[in-house]
Amino acid sequence: MKHTTIAIIGMGNVGATTAYTLMLTGLASELLLVDIDQEKCEGEVRDLRDVMGFSATSQISATTLTQARTADIIIICAGKAQKPGQSRRELAQINSAIIAEIIKELNPRPETILLMVTNPVDLMTLIACKRSSLPHTKIIGSGTWLDTQRLKRYLGEHCGVAPESVSTLILGEHGDAQCVAWSQTSIGSQPLSYWNISEKTAHELAHQTTQEAYAIIQAKCATYYGVASCIADVCKAIIYNEQRIIPVSCYDSERDLCYSMPCIMGEQGIEQRLQPQLTPQEHQCLEQSLQTLITLKHETLL
Ligand code: NAD
Repeated sequence: MKHTTIAIIGMGNVGATTAYTLMLTGLASELLLVDIDQEKCEGEVRDLRDVMGFSATSQISATTLTQARTADIIIICAGKAQKPGQSRRELAQINSAIIAEIIKELNPRPETILLMVTNPVDLMTLIACKRSSLPHTKIIGSGTWLDTQRLKRYLGEHCGVAPESVSTLILGEHGDAQCVAWSQTSIGSQPLSYWNISEKTAHELAHQTTQEAYAIIQAKCATYYGVASCIADVCKAIIYNEQRIIPVSCYDSERDLCYSMPCIMGEQGIEQRLQPQLTPQEHQCLEQSLQTLITLKHETLL
């Protein structure tokens, strides 16, 4: 494997779990970790160094944003997290300011791939597009990959099959206005009708998917294992140039927005953004999702 340096900005719950996941999956040769709270960051470095005996990661350091600039992939998960009952959109104002400042100081190199995680992630991805000179194909938001994973699990549980056998897609906002592309959903290559999944059940599973983060945050004040696994999975697709299709948040120049669509992911980042053939109902749902993001953009974009 080629030497891959990954920087993580924001060593809170998500950042620390991502670092741990990247170590155990053998994806990072070197980790550069940054947090505004330097003492906490040093503590995370020391704790993570105890994993080195079980990992291919040979160097971990607490660094500055300027030093993190040398990384091949930079993951940004700094900022405020949702409190119980709070929506992702409520974080827009405060996190926009934090992310704009980080991007300015980071000034990413043209070859870097930027992976945005801070919420509301579609808006933060757009801010990264506006504030850095990187090609937009190298700026990726974790988007609805996590939501898609959740729905795959619910559908799998409902039908008694493993989530890996479920193929589905969530588009648009990573948030309350996300849209399930039911026309793109199959289980073991069979349509939903084969599994007797009624419209009502489908609707309930989609609702459960949107509510899952709220339920986890209510119980433990944060979510991090799922998103860390999704981030590591996107890193894997990039590092191994997999050309795998993953729904991630990406820039749409026509609409001047970032939102999730299925993308072919490889060493250049987003190699191609796909346009799935949606039903009129799904089109309408996606349009509503984008309207939400347009409103959020107008309210907050710095
Ligand atoms: P957290 O509060 O545990 O950690 C945030 C960290 O960011 C803290 O350590 C803080 O010191 C640091 N930070 C703040 N400002 C900074 C700056 N200017 N420079 C460097 N570090 C800075 O929060 P968390 O649970 O780790 O969540 C982090 C973000 O990820 C939140 O916005 C959360 O909503 C988001 N998140 C996204 C997803 C997703 O699917 N996209 C999933 C879970 C969480």
